[in-house]
Amino acid sequence: MHVDKKEVLRYLGYRNQYIDSNLNNLIDESIEEIKAYIKPRYTFKMFDVEKYFNGIKLLESNLVLKGKDIKNHLKNSSKCAVFAATLGSVVDSKIRYYERINLTKALVLDACATAYIESFCDFAEKEIEKEANKLNLNITYRYSPGYGDLTIDIQGNILNMLDAYRKIGLTATEDFILIPRKSVTAFIGFQSKSIKRQHPSCRNCNKYSSCIYRKGGSYCGN
Ligand code: SF4
Repeated sequence: MHVDKKEVLRYLGYRNQYIDSNLNNLIDESIEEIKAYIKPRYTFKMFDVEKYFNGIKLLESNLVLKGKDIKNHLKNSSKCAVFAATLGSVVDSKIRYYERINLTKALVLDACATAYIESFCDFAEKEIEKEANKLNLNITYRYSPGYGDLTIDIQGNILNMLDAYRKIGLTATEDFILIPRKSVTAFIGFQSKSIKRQHPSCRNCNKYSSCIYRKGGSYCGN
């Protein structure tokens, strides 16, 4: 798993500003250090998709995804993979530890962990893409609870359906916050290879018509 320093800087809120050597070194050290704290695991299941007036039903599960945004995201999908991924709980403890003794280090470690979970989700997505390719299909981008009008109160149902606590140690609080914190749940549609995939953020972007990333079928990462 590779983490790009530019991604870490992006999570720290840097946009091409000058970075002093202390911060530069701290990021390099933290990218290495965090490898000892993470235990990346993921799990997924695939379902046939049925559209209904208010969203999407995943057949042979109790999952109903309500909202126009997820319906739009899966509008061309015949199947949907539901996946969950986590870096494990040790990295949370280390971030909390540094919050007490070195807040800058805690912030950098937190940004590194976010970059790692995103990188790990990219890896998991590639594995799911292989399943889609076996069916001669392509995948959509991943879409998580909390995007658009898909509410996060669905987290508990997702985790139960995936048996995520037993399989990867992932659970959620009563407020639907994933524990461990550096975790993700998401939906990935399977659709025809002839359809160009579109990131959910592109729909509302003011660069939509001129964007070279989107035209190339990729995404800017913003
Ligand atoms: S890929 Fe292009 S259209 Fe999509 S969000 Fe980024 S800049 Fe906007």
